[in-house]
Amino acid sequence: MSAAGTNGPLFRRLALVGIGLIGSSVARIARERGDIAAEVVVTARTPKTLDRVRQLGFADRIEADPRAAVEGADAVMLCAPVGAFADIAATIAPHLAPGAIVTDVGSTKQSVIRDVAPLLPGGVHFVPAHPLAGTEYSGPDAGFTTLFENRWTLLTPLPDTPPEAVEAVSELWRRCGSMVECMDPAHHDRVLAIVSHLPHLIAFTICGTADDLSDESRQEVLKFAASGFRDFTRIAASDPVMWRDIFLNNREALLEMLARFTEDAQAMGRAVRWGDAAYIEDKVERGRKIRRSLIELKQA
Ligand code: NAP
Repeated sequence: MSAAGTNGPLFRRLALVGIGLIGSSVARIARERGDIAAEVVVTARTPKTLDRVRQLGFADRIEADPRAAVEGADAVMLCAPVGAFADIAATIAPHLAPGAIVTDVGSTKQSVIRDVAPLLPGGVHFVPAHPLAGTEYSGPDAGFTTLFENRWTLLTPLPDTPPEAVEAVSELWRRCGSMVECMDPAHHDRVLAIVSHLPHLIAFTICGTADDLSDESRQEVLKFAASGFRDFTRIAASDPVMWRDIFLNNREALLEMLARFTEDAQAMGRAVRWGDAAYIEDKVERGRKIRRSLIELKQA
């Protein structure tokens, strides 16, 4: 395991497998700071993306073949949709350098551990990670160097992950501007189900509901969107493959949170039906309090 000291680059060679919003933000930060990796190697699925990365110029080396990309790398970061992780891990595993650290940025953690950990050879250290930062944009053009600033990155190390590997990945994220915390993977998936996955499910659903309206109302939805619908459409503009994979790989926690939400939404509906003004006011006040707390925590 090489996590070179605090002064020089943390890693000799960082291989990024997948180079969309998240991967290209890490690559841009590594290029700008110079103390994350001496060399950044990039691979993706399609020649189109690799051509674009070449034009953007934030990679030291571009490899079409993920096996060549990870060879000799002391750090490998999986930055593809989580549904692709099992295939990627199977492809790169025999080519990983002894002592290499494998990490990822996937939005679900139990599925990533299930899909990746068993395929890694002994002596390769796995540090699952998830930066809680993003936008609705995707692809290598979407990344930017301040994406992770003052945002959390959650690490979900395995019981046998060496502390030095966890520290090296923590330091990588700190150098990206992030705050870092370790968490149990099941707990991560439950927390993310309520703070991210359910809100996305609601946004996709409400856009569908609005789109199903008759023609005349549908046009008015667009015209008068500023009244609240607009905020949902921003969330709903996210990448379909990425979100398909997140929903299918955090099924249990997402369904649990959806069931709780559905009960609460029905209770609100009942309050509306029966004119229970106090109930409605109380719930709106709770929402305002949560927003105020977020602003105080500088996470708004
Ligand atoms: P993105 O912008 O859509 O980019 C995905 C990248 O993965 C592309 O470069 C794509 O290559 C590549 N890819 C897809 N399938 C692949 C495969 N089989 N092998 C190698 N590369 C493959 O995605 P993103 O937003 O950066 O998200 C990447 C990961 O970060 C996801 O796991 C996501 O859950 C997680 N995440 C996302 C956010 C967010 O807000 N976006 C936040 C935190 C974590 P091609 O372009 O060639 O297809």
